[in-house]
Amino acid sequence: MRREWHQLSHPGVGNPALQTSRPSTDSAEDSALGLDLWRSLPRVQMPPWPDMDEVAEVCKVLDNVPSIVAPYEVDQLRVKLAEVCEGRAFLLQGGDCAETFADNTESHLLANARTLLQMAVVLTYGASMPVVKVARVAGQYTKPRSSPTDSLGLPAYRGDLINSLDANEAARVADPQRMIRAYANSAAAMNMLRAYLSGGLADLNGLHDWNKDFVRASPAGERYEAIAREIDRALDFIRACGMTDAEALRTVSLYCSHEALALEYDRALTRVSDGRAYGLSGHFLWIGERTRQLDHAHIDFISRIANPIGVKLGPGTSPETAIELCEKLNPENIPGRLTLISRMGNGKVRDALPPIVEKVTATGAKVVWQCDPMHGNTHESSNGYKTRHFDRVVDEVLGYFEVHRGLGTHPGGIHIELTGEDVTECLGGAQGIEDLDLPGRYETACDPRLNTQQSLELAFLVAEMLRG
Ligand code: PEP
Ligand code: MN
Repeated sequence: MRREWHQLSHPGVGNPALQTSRPSTDSAEDSALGLDLWRSLPRVQMPPWPDMDEVAEVCKVLDNVPSIVAPYEVDQLRVKLAEVCEGRAFLLQGGDCAETFADNTESHLLANARTLLQMAVVLTYGASMPVVKVARVAGQYTKPRSSPTDSLGLPAYRGDLINSLDANEAARVADPQRMIRAYANSAAAMNMLRAYLSGGLADLNGLHDWNKDFVRASPAGERYEAIAREIDRALDFIRACGMTDAEALRTVSLYCSHEALALEYDRALTRVSDGRAYGLSGHFLWIGERTRQLDHAHIDFISRIANPIGVKLGPGTSPETAIELCEKLNPENIPGRLTLISRMGNGKVRDALPPIVEKVTATGAKVVWQCDPMHGNTHESSNGYKTRHFDRVVDEVLGYFEVHRGLGTHPGGIHIELTGEDVTECLGGAQGIEDLDLPGRYETACDPRLNTQQSLELAFLVAEMLRG
């Protein structure tokens, strides 16, 4: 029987779910772990907290709250990512660019989770491999910004954990109390997702039925029908074999992830268990393209936690930098520990990615190679919206597959900004969204997300790529 979060045990270590972790604030062990060294290092994208004493007060509260995730789940995800690293599994990560407190609703969370799980079914079939599912959820409340001010001249919105999206000066002042609200919202989100995931949301037959509805309704449905029919037959086969009750058909593990940007928050939710530090604000934490300086605060902090972690790599990344990141972040070369997330842009991926993959591979470094086809493909529409074209997203994934096939490395996964709602934020797809459609439902707090149909379409196209 397949075991899930609440049931997992490790070989040889008793039941790690019962293994406790403790707040890591003051002991000699914490300083040995270096969990606060980042505080003395240079740091970009620092939230403009007006009052550091208040930040410290808030962090004292967060030091002792129950964590969002448990150490054994974090270890479990690392083991699954090791399978991706070794070419035996595929990683699907996705969700909002920026979560907001206002949209942290049951319907929004369920729609996003459902879309991600529907995509996972298609990809599992396409890859003939397990798909590791990671949501951008329960903590994706901070945003790095390219400019300290927005188009109105106001201080930039930096995510609900830091300030408010409302367009006035007062709302944009960073408020440390927002860290408590981000924590409470994250805890509530995980609580709800865990409940629904073991209550039928993840049922394979249900997910496939939703996919069939999508194929029927999509103007491009004909193209996807063949795969949908094949999945149908595979499910018939499973049922005919009497495996309908298998727990694997009804439940999945869905892990949560966010960018570790506001280090105060992620540090306060770090706990020590068995002598190791775990960032328990989420299962998987990543460092963005703008904060990955080797000798700066973010890379130092994330190097000291035991979680599986990621780093975004833009087109300006040199192979040497990528190698240094591997040495710094995964000195023991543990498979599943480090994911390198390329976000080159469709026009650059075919030139920029090969030397990085080639040279990192030549060092023997164990990494998961993941493609973020969103962040290198943003442009402004004729009517002033920050948008992305579906065709460029697909083309970057295609380029990423070509590069890995050419080098004999494993195209390990994709990282997508998406939502399970019918927003109009990205152009194209079978619905043919155009510039003038964008204002209809442009709802993102930050970057444009694929809507439900575009997300599922992408999954079918990637399934085709996986099958070669
Ligand atoms: C993001 O993932 O939302 C993000 C800001 O990405 P990047 O660091 O690649 O720009
Ligand atoms: Mn984004």
